Amino acid sequence: SVMQRYITAISSVEDPYLKERAADVKDVAGRILGHLLGWKQTLLDHLPGQRIIVAKELTPSDTVMLDRENVQAFATETGARTSHSAILARSMQIPAVVGISGILSMIHNGDVLIVDGYQGVVILNPTAETLESYATKEAENEKRYKDLLSEAGFRPETLDGYRIELAANLDDPAKAVDLEKYGAFGIGLFRTEYLFLNGDHIPTEEEQYIVYTALAEKCGNAPAVIRTLDLGGDKLSSLISFPSEPNPFLGQRSVRLCLAYPQLLIPQIRAILRAGIYGNICMMFPMLTCVDELDELYKIIDQVKADLRREKIRFAEDLKVGVMLETPAAALAADQFASRCDFFSIGTNDLVQYTMAVDRGNERVADLYRPYHPVILRLIRNIVKAAEDAGIWASVCGEMASDPLYIPLLTGLGIRELSMSPVALAPAKRVIRNMKFIEAEELVRKALQCSSQQEVLELSRNFLQKIAPDISDFNVNA
Ligand code: PEP
Ligand code: MG
Repeated sequence: SVMQRYITAISSVEDPYLKERAADVKDVAGRILGHLLGWKQTLLDHLPGQRIIVAKELTPSDTVMLDRENVQAFATETGARTSHSAILARSMQIPAVVGISGILSMIHNGDVLIVDGYQGVVILNPTAETLESYATKEAENEKRYKDLLSEAGFRPETLDGYRIELAANLDDPAKAVDLEKYGAFGIGLFRTEYLFLNGDHIPTEEEQYIVYTALAEKCGNAPAVIRTLDLGGDKLSSLISFPSEPNPFLGQRSVRLCLAYPQLLIPQIRAILRAGIYGNICMMFPMLTCVDELDELYKIIDQVKADLRREKIRFAEDLKVGVMLETPAAALAADQFASRCDFFSIGTNDLVQYTMAVDRGNERVADLYRPYHPVILRLIRNIVKAAEDAGIWASVCGEMASDPLYIPLLTGLGIRELSMSPVALAPAKRVIRNMKFIEAEELVRKALQCSSQQEVLELSRNFLQKIAPDISDFNVNA
């Protein structure tokens, strides 16, 4: 009513300039009402034809809503390789280049662009010649990728018989991913927070149970690792009002948020336990820094199990519980965690961020974000050793797992499983099948002696060039 009163008053003014301001009032009032009612912005999910999006920033919730039919690519001013929008772009198979400062001031609506995600390059108004050479390149890449996909059924084993399982990272439950087509042995990481990002309500236990059951059934005997809610940092849900924090990545993120708000965690744990009877579901907790948190989580699980028993609701009694090792504190206490859980999954995206003190989404320090730094390798070695001593398995589900450059290092370190965006699985399998485990171990021995990260990079580049030269310039993870 208030809005209408102002609009009517302004519209009745004679002056044509002032009269037009009624539209502004209407727009602002509409936005306020939209926020109050929790309406979703639907600009990016219905584009009027094929477009390349150029933006200052795309949040994970913007990105997951992108209209897959019509968004050909995107380029943003902010972000880095392991920011969640970049990870989503990879899993949605949208070419993207992030962290190009100043791009907005150079580009206008209607410009022709080439977005080359392999090289991290955006070409503005290319010549006919460049366009043609890119069209040829694109066709070649499609053919190379098809060849790689034809090997999806091959065994993920090195030439000397070391087997390393390859699993899929999934974010969007609505996307039906054909695991077999990509050669995935189950799901190594299901990021449940995307269930909470864009809906119009917090998903109920029943809704989550349906999603997790479908995942269990999709995987058959293979594991489906459901990670509990990892909100916070750059993943904020409009459904939950977070107090703003000066350092969100160091704040009440992830499992800290869940422990503070058990009303978010308990329905999720119930849904996971209940879905567990339909397949090989595992539950995984992110962002732990100390074993006390894990002990507290076990208390909640025990309480939930007792409730389910009392309510006579079936659930998987022996469901495996895993821990994400993604903080230096947890990596250093890996032996203590190993004696309390069934498996480890190393979240290198965060492990690198917290160890190197580099914000994973900040383009200004992207050059300092180095997964191949010898200290990261040491931490991973410590984790693998603790897992081996305790007889549990250790996998990697951060972006490092999908980068052909780092796969030999991770294999040589004794990792048993790599989990990645499905599109990256076929190139990863080629790398594994082309190398010898003993050579990967030798690479790691040398890398661990390096004091400079540059030396490790050189060693890894030479190794990849020797075993799979065709993959070294075909990195879907670039
Ligand atoms: C990681 O940190 O490596 C990880 C896999 O989790 P996310 O990228 O969702 O933080
Ligand atoms: Mg993480």
